[in-house]
Amino acid sequence: MPSIAPYSVAILLGLGSMLPLAAAAKGIDKEPFGQLADGTAIDRYRLTNANGMEVEFITYGGTVTAIRTPDRNGKLANVVLGFAKLEDYEAKNPYFGSIVGRYANRIANARFDLEGVTYQLVANNGPNALHGGEVGFDKRVWTAKETASPDGLAVVLSYRSLDGEEGYPGNLDVQVTYTLTDADEFRIDYQATTDKPTVVNLTSHSYFNLAGEGSGSIEGHELMLNASAYTPVDATLIPTGTLDKVAGTPFDFTQPTLLGARLRDGHEQLVRGQGYDHNFVLDKPAPGAMSLAARVHEPTSGRMMEIYTTEPGIQLYTGNFLDGTLLGPAGKTYRQGDGFCLETQHFPDSPNKPSFPSTLLKPGETFRSTTMHRFSVDKT
Ligand code: BGC
Repeated sequence: MPSIAPYSVAILLGLGSMLPLAAAAKGIDKEPFGQLADGTAIDRYRLTNANGMEVEFITYGGTVTAIRTPDRNGKLANVVLGFAKLEDYEAKNPYFGSIVGRYANRIANARFDLEGVTYQLVANNGPNALHGGEVGFDKRVWTAKETASPDGLAVVLSYRSLDGEEGYPGNLDVQVTYTLTDADEFRIDYQATTDKPTVVNLTSHSYFNLAGEGSGSIEGHELMLNASAYTPVDATLIPTGTLDKVAGTPFDFTQPTLLGARLRDGHEQLVRGQGYDHNFVLDKPAPGAMSLAARVHEPTSGRMMEIYTTEPGIQLYTGNFLDGTLLGPAGKTYRQGDGFCLETQHFPDSPNKPSFPSTLLKPGETFRSTTMHRFSVDKT
C-alpha cells in the first residue's frame, strides 16, 4: 500500500543547493478542493513519487490539474495547463486534463447505427457530437479510491454512465486508474463494461507545455510521432475516411520536428483545423500492442515526454481555440498555441466508419486501454 503523506507533515529535505526545490515525501495526499455549484464536495489528490515528481487530479471530471516534473537542473514546473479554482473548471474548462468519454472526439451528425438501431446523440459541436456531449465524463463526479499497485502510487476513479446518457445506449461502468511510478511514469489504465452494445472511446485531455504552463507558445517543442499516416478531415473536422500518408506534408513528424515549423503552411488541412487538430494513425507492431506513439522535447528546459499506448491513434491538437480569455494557476493567460494535446484514442467517427478499428463494446466484454507518459530530461 502507498504511504500517506499529508502536506502538513511533508518532509522538506534540507539539501540546500544540492536540490533547487524542497521535495515532498513520497505518498498519496488528499484534500478538499471546494464545492460545485450544486454543493457536491470535490477532492484533490496528489501523488508524489520518490524523486519528488507530482501528479495532481480532482474528482470532478477525473481532471489532471498539475503534473510537476524537473527540468535539466532539477527545478520542478507544472507542465499542464489548468486553473487555480474549481469554479473555473466547472464553468469554462476546454477539457484541460479531463477524462473524455463516452466517445472522445467527434461523431458525425451526432448519430450512429448499431445492430439495426439508430442512436441520436446530443450535438454539442455544430452538427456533431464532441467528447461525449453536453455533459460528458469530464463534467461528472468520479469516485476515487487508493489502490494497491506493484508499480507505484495508484488511485482508481470510477463512474457509472447510465443507459441513455447523452444518447448512448447501455449502462457503462468505467474505471480509470492513475499510477505514478518511481521511474517518472504517469500511467492511465482505462476499463469499461456495458449491459447493452455501445461504443466506447476514452482519452485524457491534458494540454502540455513542457517549459511550464503559462510560459507561452509551444511552437519550440520538438515532436516525433510514430505515425506514417493520418486521417484528414472535412470542414466540420470529421474524418473523410481515408488514411493519408504523411510523407511530404506538414503532418510528417516521423523525424523530430518543431511543432511550429509548418503550423502556418497554407495546407488545406491546417486551415480547416486552424492548426493541428488531427488524428494520426500509429505504426504498431500489432493491433493493441503497447508501443511508442510520441516523443516530445522542449529544448530550453530539457524536459522530454514519451507516450506509449495500446490505442491505434493519437490526436495532435495545438490549442488552436485558446484565445487569451482563460487564466492559468500562475496568473498567465492562455493564447492560441500555448499548449498541445496528444490524446491517445480510437479514430474520430469510428461508429460511422466501418473501415476504422472498431469501438463497439458488447455485454460480457471488457474494454481495456493503457497510456503511459514517461518524463525525463535531455541531460542530468
Ligand atoms: C478536439 C478539438 C477541440 C479540443 C478542445 C480536441 O480533442 O480535436 O477540435 O477543440 O479537443 O475541445
